[in-house]
Amino acid sequence: MLILKLNKSGMPEAWISAEEAAKNYCQGKVLFELGENQHVLHGGWNSEGIQSTLTLSSIIACDGKINQDNGGISLTNRFLFRRDQQMCLYCGETFQVHQLTRDHIIPKSKGGKDTWTNSATACKRCNHAKGARTPEEANMPLLAVPFKPNMYERFFLMNRKILADQMAFLSAHFSSKRDWQKGLN
Ligand SMILES: [Zn+2]
Repeated sequence: MLILKLNKSGMPEAWISAEEAAKNYCQGKVLFELGENQHVLHGGWNSEGIQSTLTLSSIIACDGKINQDNGGISLTNRFLFRRDQQMCLYCGETFQVHQLTRDHIIPKSKGGKDTWTNSATACKRCNHAKGARTPEEANMPLLAVPFKPNMYERFFLMNRKILADQMAFLSAHFSSKRDWQKGLN
């Protein structure tokens, strides 16, 4: 389980391990907790035979310098297919990752860029059928608008095992209306 660490303004900063979260608790850096899930860490035993425990929340906001890095998320097939829920944006079918490809909506040969908004998840068949044509030329309209993930969507894409409360926190800020709650593997 990973804990969602927020900065002091309440914006997501990192996915961290329980051990890293414990360090923040011990250093008194946790300002507030938002998670509904708790994770109990067990520590050492004292002379009376009582074991120390530390209860971690699944979402914690920590004091510290605010990292201004909003540089976005690099475009990889793994993140692209997850953004599109492993659905081919041309035929609408869902596929296994190994059956999917990255389609450049405006083909590279026509000046299309390798960007989030010019990339679509496509099955091999559709990608082949489309060839080096635009969707209009191929008469293959896109079923969804390809978007660049915002900060909250970025944190969703980065972690495959998101708890329900973490998902609720992130999805409240999603720009896309798509149903990402289903959870993919
Ligand atoms: Zn397809």
